[in-house]
Amino acid sequence: MHSPESPAVEFRNIEISYGRFTAVKDFSLTIQKGSFVTLLGPSGCGKTTILRSIAGLVDISSGQISIASKRVDDIPIYKRNIGLVFQNYALFPHKNVFDNVAFGLKYRNVPKAEIVRRVGKALEMVRLPGSEKKLPSQLSGGQQQRIALARAIVFEPEVLLLDEPLSALDANMREDMRVEIKKIQKETGITAIFVTHDQEEALSMSDRIVVMNAGVVEQIGTPGEVYDQPATGFVANFLGKANMLSGVVTIMDEGRATIALDVGQTVRAASPRPLKPKDKVTVVVRPQKIAIGATGADNRLSGRILSTSYLGGNAVYEIDIGGAVIRANISLDGGLLREDETVEISFDPSGAVLLNERGIRIVP
Ligand code: ATP
Repeated sequence: MHSPESPAVEFRNIEISYGRFTAVKDFSLTIQKGSFVTLLGPSGCGKTTILRSIAGLVDISSGQISIASKRVDDIPIYKRNIGLVFQNYALFPHKNVFDNVAFGLKYRNVPKAEIVRRVGKALEMVRLPGSEKKLPSQLSGGQQQRIALARAIVFEPEVLLLDEPLSALDANMREDMRVEIKKIQKETGITAIFVTHDQEEALSMSDRIVVMNAGVVEQIGTPGEVYDQPATGFVANFLGKANMLSGVVTIMDEGRATIALDVGQTVRAASPRPLKPKDKVTVVVRPQKIAIGATGADNRLSGRILSTSYLGGNAVYEIDIGGAVIRANISLDGGLLREDETVEISFDPSGAVLLNERGIRIVP
């Protein structure tokens, strides 16, 4: 939906260096009001540095950052209206829940009665109503993180920054909190910028994902776009498992390339642009796009099952196609296949993405 409002946050060609080391290069991003944007990438790619630059905790070397169309360079940290949640709760250990959550309001000289009302509302929102008198040490990790969230949203900040807020929690709690944070963000309509290296978190929570690698943006898109249409080999590999088969184009007809794979078999893949014989390409196919057994589909390859992993409603198989291992994620209605079994696998030519020699997706 088109919004006439100005963007909540805008980065224009920012660069950030620590001494001689450039941690973030030419970073540009526009974040719409009320959206949930995730910065995703491996350790050291510069995600936290970007988040900290919004809060004014690191200086940018060049470029511009604006919040609600105002350049932040001129706004001191304490005047930037930003909520922060970190990995390690960072609650004041000797203050009770009320005082922890009320902190930002007291700081802003909000009247006492209003503070009580707003703290109560924030605690209801994070589903810990009535916990005002408890100390952080009397709460579980997940509950402490909910309090940290209440503290960050209680003064209705312009932007909520979340830096790996779930990584200290155990797996079950993490999943619950994903849903919880997303729900609260939608209810409050707050603009959220979330940092994680966990692709599942990013895929399940975000309106848009910014995939980063070594200080640069690899791709910006919806979860569906970055997963199904990865812009680079890095994105394909970082967001879940991808089968990457390299080869050479032999024939191009009717929008489809025939590719002689390095491992000796031949496949066909839809190409958004005509390719020439001898062009080197990599065929990227997600494990969910691989079928096993007689399907009538194109791209039949024979192989032998190396390993099976039963995952409840589906199974993941590693299949040796002679020189390369294909991963297939198959939903189970029949029985589980056995190791060493010989199978025929296939995938639809339109289910693959083609990368060029430099690992960049071939686009029209
Ligand atoms: P992680 O997920 O491990 O937190 P990240 O993607 O958030 O990683 P940053 O913390 O932004 O990465 O760091 C980006 C790069 O800048 C890294 O190579 C890091 O070593 C370097 N770096 C970060 N802070 C400093 C600092 N204060 N001084 C020097 N180098 C730094």
